[in-house]
Amino acid sequence: MPEEIKEKTKKRVLSLIQPTAVPHIGNYIGAMRNWAGMADDFDCVFGVADLHALTIRQDPATLRRQSMEAYAMLLALGLMRGGNVVFCQSHVAGHCQLAWILNCYTQFGEASRMTQFKEKSASHADNVNVGLFAYPTLQAADILIYQAHYVPVGADQKQHLELARNVAERFNGVYGPTFVVPEPYISKLGSKIASLQEPSKKMSKSDPNPRASIAITDAPDVIIKKCRGAVTDSDAVIRYAEGKDGVNNLMTIYAACTGKAFEEIEHEFEGKGYGDFKLAVGEAVIAELRPFREEYARLLADKAYLKQAAQDGAEAAARIANRTVEKAYRKVGLWDFRR
Ligand code: ATP
Ligand code: MG
Repeated sequence: MPEEIKEKTKKRVLSLIQPTAVPHIGNYIGAMRNWAGMADDFDCVFGVADLHALTIRQDPATLRRQSMEAYAMLLALGLMRGGNVVFCQSHVAGHCQLAWILNCYTQFGEASRMTQFKEKSASHADNVNVGLFAYPTLQAADILIYQAHYVPVGADQKQHLELARNVAERFNGVYGPTFVVPEPYISKLGSKIASLQEPSKKMSKSDPNPRASIAITDAPDVIIKKCRGAVTDSDAVIRYAEGKDGVNNLMTIYAACTGKAFEEIEHEFEGKGYGDFKLAVGEAVIAELRPFREEYARLLADKAYLKQAAQDGAEAAARIANRTVEKAYRKVGLWDFRR
C-alpha cells in the first residue's frame, strides 16, 4: 500500500484550473462552489495549471498576471481552509520530472487517440507542438504525483483521466504499487448551466461570444446587462418546461443562487414579465458571487499575502510531490548517489 494512503485516513482530491480563461458561473455552480464543501471530507490539493497554458502561445506578462489572479481566485473561494494545499503548478518542479517518466510509459498511439489533442491540433494548426501532444501525460503527473484518489472531472476530461489510470496501472504492474489509481469524482451537487445566447448549448469558457457567459469576476452592472440580454422565448411565462431552454436555464441559475425550488420560482413570478425575472436573476447572481468578489478584490490588493501563500502552498505541495518523484525515480532505476 503506498505510504500516502497509510498516512492519511481521508481520501485525497486533486483539482487544477487553467489560468488563461476566467471561470464562468457554470464552472462556479457546477464545480468550484462545491470544492470548498469538499474540504471537510477530503484532503484537497488545488492548483493553477500554468504549465498547461504554454501548449498555446501566451503573452508572458499576461500569463504571469492571469496565473496570480487564478491563484487569488482559488484562495477567494475559501479553499485553503482545513489544511488544504493551494499552489501553482510551475512552482513545484516535480510535475515536469514525473511527466518525463510517464512519457516513457505512455504509447504514442494512445496519446494520439486523445480527442482534445485532435481538436486543439485542428484549431491551432500553426502550432501543433510536442507539449500539446504530451498534455495528458503532464496531467497524469499532476494527479499521480499527489497520490490523488479522486479528480473532479467534466465530461471532456474523462478521457485524460482514463489515460492517467492506464499509465498508473501499467507502471504499478511493472514496478509494484507506486501510484494510487485515481477515480473520477462526480459531484451530486451542481447543475449544468447553458449559454445565455444559445441556451441549447452549455455555457463554455471557449465560447468566443462574451455575452454568452457570466464570468465570476464580472462587475454587477455587467452581470445585470448580460442577464437582461439572455435569449428566452416569446411565450412570456416563467415556467420550467420542454422547449423553453432559455427560461429553464435562467430558472436553473436563479435556483442555484437562491436555493429556491422551480415551483416556488414559478409562483414568485406568476403574472410578471421576463424583464422582472431577468433582473431578479441578475441580482441573485450578484448576491451569490458577492463574498467571492469581495475576498478576491481584497487579496489582489494584498500582494505580499498572495506571495507568501503561494510560497507556503508550493512548499506543502512539494513535500508530497517530491516523495512520489523519488519513489518513481528509484523504481525505474535512476542512480541516487545518496544511497
Ligand atoms: P472549455 O470550453 O475550455 O472546455 P469549460 O467552460 O467547459 O471550458 P472546463 O474547464 O472544461 O470549463 O470545466 C471546469 C469544470 O466546470 C468541470 O468540472 C466542468 O464539469 C464544469 N463545467 C463546465 N461548464 C459547465 C457548465 N456550463 N455548467 C456546469 N458546470 C460546468
Ligand atoms: Mg469543458
